[in-house]
Amino acid sequence: MDYVLPLAELIEQFRKLPGIGAKSAQRLAFQVLSWDKAEIEKFAQCVLSASNQIHYCPDCFNFSTGGGLCATCSSPKRDKQIICLVATARDLAALERTHEFKGLYHVLHGLISPMDGVGPDQLKIKPLINRLKEHTEIQEIILALSPSTEGEATTLYLTRLLKPLGVKITRLAFGLSVGADIEQTDELTLAKALEGRREC
Ligand SMILES: [Zn+2]
Repeated sequence: MDYVLPLAELIEQFRKLPGIGAKSAQRLAFQVLSWDKAEIEKFAQCVLSASNQIHYCPDCFNFSTGGGLCATCSSPKRDKQIICLVATARDLAALERTHEFKGLYHVLHGLISPMDGVGPDQLKIKPLINRLKEHTEIQEIILALSPSTEGEATTLYLTRLLKPLGVKITRLAFGLSVGADIEQTDELTLAKALEGRREC
């Protein structure tokens, strides 16, 4: 059956979310409509203000607020000589949960994937090179990328690109199966992978 237009449009918005099919989108739309007006307004406001207030940190490209560097990049407690390279902000959060890593991060915002039309230019690789040139104190880059086909392709590309710049390149020592996801790996395994990292 067809829904009235505003409801059909709301369902369409939920369908844009990853992993949400037609049935789930309908369920979510009905759920939201069952809330009272104040709850609905808060929900809509949160979406808007998150999108208005959050930006990328100009150094590491993690989410930040307030226009400047993120809390990690501006913290005097972090070791500015080591950069941990991650594919997504979710992977960064997973590594932060280990409380083992005291350096800084750089978020690539994806992995090289020719099948999906993602090449090096779509990732934050150029800003990484600029960051290395600007911050000569950086001595090591840890490639903390998932051991998937895309992760391996990206690791290979970056190793070739970064090695001539004279910086030490290491990668996580994965004791996990190929294809495992960093964000879904438990803290202890991640901490061990960090500790046992080896040079590329
Ligand atoms: Zn930052």
